[in-house]
Amino acid sequence: MKVTIAISKLICTFESTNKTTMRNEPQNIIEIPRLSQSLFQKNDDAYSRDDEKFYGQCPCCGKGIKEPKFFVNSIYGSEMYPANDNNQYKDAWQMPVGSECVKRIPSEYVIKGA
Ligand SMILES: [Zn+2]
Repeated sequence: MKVTIAISKLICTFESTNKTTMRNEPQNIIEIPRLSQSLFQKNDDAYSRDDEKFYGQCPCCGKGIKEPKFFVNSIYGSEMYPANDNNQYKDAWQMPVGSECVKRIPSEYVIKGA
């Protein structure tokens, strides 16, 4: 799992240095739907205790995700922009989303993983 993450980070770095267009703001930003703050906090605390077991953390519920199947293009980890927008933005990165939470996200914002 660690190796996969390292490789995907390398690929990201490689791709972003090769992009010539760097726009400031994506279009059609919407907020990532979140569980209540207290539930999120509870899951976030549990996740933080052994985050190395997981690929990443769901921005909707705070739970750790081991084998992500869905991703969103996030801005600061709290908002997202459409999946078909392949431009590079500052403070933007792909986040894995849990298979339950993905149901609350409009399909045009969902990136299906391999
Ligand atoms: Zn979730």
